Amino acid sequence: MAVDVLSMEPAALERLMEEADLPRYRGRQLFHALWKTRIASYDALSVWPAALRARAAGEWPLMRVVPLERQKARDGTEKIVVGLFDGEQVEMVLLPHRFGWSVCVSTQVGCAIGCHFCASGLLGKTRNLSAGEIADQVALAEVILAERGERVRRVDLMGIGEPLDNYAGTVGGLHLMHDPNGLGLSYRHLTVSTSGLVPRIQKLAEEGMPVTLAVSLHAPNDDVRGELMPINRAYPIARLMDALATYWERTRRRITYEYLLIDGVNDGVPLARELVRLIRRFPAHVNLIPWNPVPEFPYRPSPAAQVAAFRKVLDEAGVSCTVRRELGQEIEAACGQLRRSVGKGTPSPPLAEKAAGHPPSEGGA
Ligand code: SAH
Ligand code: SF4
Repeated sequence: MAVDVLSMEPAALERLMEEADLPRYRGRQLFHALWKTRIASYDALSVWPAALRARAAGEWPLMRVVPLERQKARDGTEKIVVGLFDGEQVEMVLLPHRFGWSVCVSTQVGCAIGCHFCASGLLGKTRNLSAGEIADQVALAEVILAERGERVRRVDLMGIGEPLDNYAGTVGGLHLMHDPNGLGLSYRHLTVSTSGLVPRIQKLAEEGMPVTLAVSLHAPNDDVRGELMPINRAYPIARLMDALATYWERTRRRITYEYLLIDGVNDGVPLARELVRLIRRFPAHVNLIPWNPVPEFPYRPSPAAQVAAFRKVLDEAGVSCTVRRELGQEIEAACGQLRRSVGKGTPSPPLAEKAAGHPPSEGGA
């Protein structure tokens, strides 16, 4: 396995250079070139002598992500099929909001958790994304948005995959996004979404990284949640809530609950009341998401009146709550509609090179 410089933090790159009998500052130069300039190849690293560039290209191949396909919805949402160095593909989504743009990135090729409502898990998991591949989706988004004078305001690890089933890649990716010489995003603007891997939530609480934790709850009791999410058998709700309490205590970040509404399954008013009682323990925000259709599952989204009735219970109890707009449905870019494209693709060079070589948003809006 080649040395993966894209996943390395500045200190690791400095060590790599030392081991290669080069001065440590070459590591800092490389980090800057990878994340601030987003070089597509060592040819673009003009502060390095030609001989060093040639040696680097042989020893430390750049395993950047490349955009293969871009699809825009009328609401401005853009879905991008991203190619990985080994021909695998994932998807990322750019979403317009009042506060600016967010980007939703993938953390695995497929997903092994297999929730009974989600397209991402249908084909299982092929592999984890590296820290560099996770952060590079954000770098790619910066390049695309910079073309319009915009920049990335928030990042959601909410695309394909279960971030906490790829713990090292996720935490490493968050470090690269946060590093002031990397993408320079505040931890407060980064969100990790999880189906509820309890031991990993406890571990994340100790990382000293105050990212927002979003938990795919989808039901307030084990009976209903167990039907929808097999993971609930391993980590039932009582254990999940204890782990979330720890996360709140350590980070003081309020917990976000994702609750998708499926007609007649988890959208009853009594369940809304049960939800209110369950999440009282510490500050929380609830995102209600009408289920986005995935043809392989037999469900229907909750009708608007039921969404309103569910929401009313939360509002009256003083629970902070939003109903998520269904951005990007027409291009299957909405939550739970992202799936691993079948078949290995060949990166299409023109678009790939153009985007990879474009400087990120340093001077952007
Ligand atoms: N694996 C992580 C993150 C990726 S899924 C997790 O499960 O949290 C991102 C969000 O989309 C989760 O809240 C998930 O439950 C939700 N989701 C999955 N399928 C969906 C669907 N068909 N409609 C709406 N939301 C869905
Ligand atoms: Fe995986 Fe999240 Fe989809 Fe569940 S909802 S199958 S954990 S991506």
